[in-house]
Amino acid sequence: MAEQTDNAPGAQRFIPPDADTIDELRTAAGGCRGCELYRDATQTVFGRGDESARVVLVGEQPGDMEDQKGLPFVGPAGRLLRKAVDDAGLDPAQIYLTNAVKHFRFELRGKRRIHQTPDRVHITACRPWLVAEFARLDPEIVVVLGATAAKALLGPSFRVTRQRGELLPWPASAQHPEDFTQVPVDSAGKRADAPPARLLATIHPSAVLRADDQDKAYEGLVADLTVAARALAG
Ligand code: SF4
Repeated sequence: MAEQTDNAPGAQRFIPPDADTIDELRTAAGGCRGCELYRDATQTVFGRGDESARVVLVGEQPGDMEDQKGLPFVGPAGRLLRKAVDDAGLDPAQIYLTNAVKHFRFELRGKRRIHQTPDRVHITACRPWLVAEFARLDPEIVVVLGATAAKALLGPSFRVTRQRGELLPWPASAQHPEDFTQVPVDSAGKRADAPPARLLATIHPSAVLRADDQDKAYEGLVADLTVAARALAG
């Protein structure tokens, strides 16, 4: 694990060891002070979706709208992602959505809150929540959306642009695979070794919204997600 600092002691101490469900984790995450991002944001935005989802999508951090509503992927990038998921033939009911960092990082310009990419210290501080979520999920495919999520799960040397759309072994491709090797077997908290799953990286939907050629960027996102959909069907 990477270093933690006085400013960002990390989320681990806020995770109840006896939290068996995602709902219990979500409640605990509401009080997280693992880094300074909680101070300016409105609320923690935890993952959502069914615990038995076959696909886990991991994004960067909540945006302005998500911060206000307390739900991930409900802003413009989330709308685009939902369309891309549909166009790729993935079943939205089979998807659990979360972010690598659970509070909105921004800077104020006048009255506007402008997105700021989380630093490594925030990704590291928040990673225990991601690990805790995965310990209560059992996905067949993990989809990493963009560089921040890739850093959180795959380490700093992974390049989304180089390896996007490629199916990789999960959790073997993780930076610390040992963090992801146990999955739940039943609701009583029994755990077992994770069955082999796969991971695929692609761009974040907000990168499509920022692209000069949005149609081409969108097609690329859908093409990557289609690889995941076919892998599920296969
Ligand atoms: S960003 Fe993550 S570690 Fe930092 S306060 Fe929020 S939930 Fe805790």
